[in-house]
Amino acid sequence: MEIKINSDKELDKFIICHKCFTLHKKINIKNNNSALCVKCNSILYHRDDNLINKGLALSITGLIFFILANSFPIIKIEILGQEQMITILSMINSLILNGYYIVALFVSYLIFIFPLLIFFIYIFIFIFIKLGIYRDIVVDLLILLAKILPWNMSAIFLISILVSLVKLMNMLEIYIGISFWALVIFVMIDLYMTKKIHIGELWIYATR
Ligand SMILES: [Zn+2]
Repeated sequence: MEIKINSDKELDKFIICHKCFTLHKKINIKNNNSALCVKCNSILYHRDDNLINKGLALSITGLIFFILANSFPIIKIEILGQEQMITILSMINSLILNGYYIVALFVSYLIFIFPLLIFFIYIFIFIFIKLGIYRDIVVDLLILLAKILPWNMSAIFLISILVSLVKLMNMLEIYIGISFWALVIFVMIDLYMTKKIHIGELWIYATR
């Protein structure tokens, strides 16, 4: 079947299954229901009338925990009676001081700049959609979000801390700081949002 699409607005009436690439025409569904692909049964979109409020609350909470995670030591290590506090920023700083500039640049983007940016973008998107303003900006922000989301490595960073904790536990005295728990909560919120809030759904809000 051939479909002729003349404008972006018309294009928004359709949705492609991300698994099997079958094209579907969007229909209105009831709250808390999902539209499924006719071919492979995977979820095309979901309707949750509370999505925007939930998303806004989650992204503000996430941002607070991210700030906490960066404000206090993640771990405290004792070497030969000397205490050393390790924060995310001090870790990046010591990479720079030791001449690992490229690594420091990558690390600061992957575990600091991108996660921070993502949560700010989420907050702006939810506020703008809630107020029904700046639709064009919301669309641009959604495109930007889709581009940087895969580069958020907070979860991988947390796993790497856990691995090094296990490895170093027998050699050093290690104390877990407040920021470690803040980071755990941040990563959980981050993973929950990635799983539950799809850019495609926000796109529907932004373009309808
Ligand atoms: Zn499908």
